[in-house]
Amino acid sequence: LPEQEAFDIEYWLLEEAKLQRMPKPKSLAGRVALVTGGAGGIGRAVASQLLSEGACVVLSDVDQNALTEAKQELVAKFGKDVVSSVQVDVTNETAVIESLKSAMVDFGGLDILVSNAGIASAAPFEETTLALWEKNLSVLATGYFLVSRSAYQIMLQQGIGGNMVFVASKNGLVASGGASAYCTAKAAEVHLARCLALEGAPHQIRVNVVNPDAVIRGSRIWNGKWKEERAEANKISEDNLEEFYRQRSMLKRSVFPEDIAEAVYFFASDKSNKSTGNILNVDAGNAGAFTR
Ligand code: NAD
Repeated sequence: LPEQEAFDIEYWLLEEAKLQRMPKPKSLAGRVALVTGGAGGIGRAVASQLLSEGACVVLSDVDQNALTEAKQELVAKFGKDVVSSVQVDVTNETAVIESLKSAMVDFGGLDILVSNAGIASAAPFEETTLALWEKNLSVLATGYFLVSRSAYQIMLQQGIGGNMVFVASKNGLVASGGASAYCTAKAAEVHLARCLALEGAPHQIRVNVVNPDAVIRGSRIWNGKWKEERAEANKISEDNLEEFYRQRSMLKRSVFPEDIAEAVYFFASDKSNKSTGNILNVDAGNAGAFTR
């Protein structure tokens, strides 16, 4: 190569290398997010993902001990200036309104809501009591309504758009045996997201849904009775449940909280700025086909 050209190439390569070493601007820098159920498996992974992209995060949860532990874990990783927490039961209207305001107090605004707090309680249909039905509907459908309504009001007032992601469930789209109350409540979350997407669109408030399939590891739901009920409904032992779900999926892979967090991040960020009222199943291909 002529001397000048060789010099130019070397110079360009050095510049390139320098650019690679420079910290990339974080995609959620300056944004404030509130994650309900933030002390649980999926909520914690979501909070961690949003924090790593530069957002400030308010964790909200009904379980104070778990909340303290989750906050400590995230503060140790990201620093105390970007994480706060608020205890709230999402079925309590007044408490929900106050909890959403804490995002304004702590970080001066609210850009992203991740509605994720949940329970799972099931029984064969003939044994589904009114109490069990109402419990699912109130924490899931009504909880998502109350939280998103407060967030929506704040976002409207702010007047700069906003972003909501509902962590619903594959069971909001397809039936699952012995879990009619849970499935119905999850379907309500999915449809609420669509309705809210329509009303929010003129205000640039986007609303999308992430539907996990079974996320067993890390989830506290699966520590409880739900695991026993799912094993019974699928007629297999509790120890074989994870393998059962893995084999049932097209990709033959298990789904983890971090997989859900990636999908939530996609919808929470500008990467998806032309998407609203949409659903992303994170299920290793389970909802799309009968594999067995
Ligand atoms: P998790 O139990 O680990 O987390 C749920 C969190 O919600 C808990 O910390 C719990 O304390 C909190 N919570 C429960 N009731 C509440 C209330 N009334 N007010 C405020 N907080 C409350 O479970 P997860 O697996 O992380 O579930 C998160 C979401 O994902 C839920 O909505 C769940 O239905 C959904 N989901 C989970 C799976 C799965 O297999 N894990 C599959 C599909 C959908």
